[in-house]
Amino acid sequence: MSWFSSVEQGPPIEVFALTKQCTEDDFPQKVNLGVGAYRTDEGKPWVLPVVRAAEKALANDETLNKEYLPVLGLDSFSTLSTNMLLGDDSPAIVEKRAFGVQSLSGTGALRVGAEFLAKKLGKTIFYYSTPTWENHRLVFLSAGFQEARQYRYWDQGKRGLDIEGFLEDINNAPEGSVIILHACAHNPTGCDPTQEQWEKIAQVVKHKRLFPFFDSAYQGFASGDLDKDAWAVRFFVSQGFELFCAQSYAKNFGLYNERTGNLSVVMNNPSEIAAVKSQITLTIRGMYSNPPSHGARIVSHVLNNKELFDQWRGNIKTMSSRIIEMRKRLREELERLGTPGTWNHITEQIGMFSYTGLNEVQSEHMVKKYHIYMLRSGRISMCGITPSNVEYVAKSINETLT
Ligand code: PLP
Repeated sequence: MSWFSSVEQGPPIEVFALTKQCTEDDFPQKVNLGVGAYRTDEGKPWVLPVVRAAEKALANDETLNKEYLPVLGLDSFSTLSTNMLLGDDSPAIVEKRAFGVQSLSGTGALRVGAEFLAKKLGKTIFYYSTPTWENHRLVFLSAGFQEARQYRYWDQGKRGLDIEGFLEDINNAPEGSVIILHACAHNPTGCDPTQEQWEKIAQVVKHKRLFPFFDSAYQGFASGDLDKDAWAVRFFVSQGFELFCAQSYAKNFGLYNERTGNLSVVMNNPSEIAAVKSQITLTIRGMYSNPPSHGARIVSHVLNNKELFDQWRGNIKTMSSRIIEMRKRLREELERLGTPGTWNHITEQIGMFSYTGLNEVQSEHMVKKYHIYMLRSGRISMCGITPSNVEYVAKSINETLT
């Protein structure tokens, strides 16, 4: 007899299963293009030098202890995070109607925000782009949302944004629905709306009274510029929206396993902030009680120090430039080989990921035949491409398509 006999095997999480498969593969030329983590030219993980510097300073700071953080986290961290997202001169900051809540990385911010919206505002329907980051659905449904709906985003034919489909779908959304919007560097397509397209999106969101929930997992990583990458969120704030934004420091600080994130909340009425904070406090208290301090202290230390902040921006530039360079190299190689199709989308897309346009069968062929690990959707992480494997990757794509 077992209490657990009725438990069915759940499906594997593709990106983690792929990494495991790659780790166990002893083929010398194998390439991991699945995982969304930065790699150096040598294909190695990178701890940002500014993070090392901050960790040394923190280790020597005898005033720090291991006491619990407050439920809403380290105040300096969440304030600096929200300011970095919205900009110091944001009307929401100046009018004291924005605040931050430390979270367990970007995923945790999404989960806390979604749970608040479902349980305290009675939200039931959320919209996400097709395709989107594979976890949005699970996070929002686990948080208590009842219905997941999709809006069109990627046009496979033109390998770009389907803006007409996008606008039509959200125009048909029931009033009050929540819409998840990628702040920049859309995952998995690497394709963002232009500023004119964002303006049209904002008009429909306003007209249909949808609640915008931005997901900002790549600030600084898309263009190399923190302000540019926050444009869409800041534009919505300038248009008078109340909104949530989940921020992650996994990619732009390389703090993947420190689970360091922030939920930024922008409201219209400062007098309602205390009540909202008290309810988010209860949401978190019942979930994990309070967050860990290490990553938040690192980020806070860097954002609070002009010299380290500039150093961080340099580190971000290093990462984004390497990715842009690899996009160029991959496109050049594919075009040099005369690979069927057009490849301008590789350099037009931004951020960590690229939607190659390879279909499921072709993507699986890349894994099986060439030991190049990529998602079935055709998504590749540009970080996995290095000067020493770019020719092999291009040759393999070429052979797969010819
Ligand atoms: N949102 C998007 C679009 C992402 O791509 C990711 C990470 O890949 C996340 C959120 C959350 O990541 P984390 O929880 O590691 O911050």
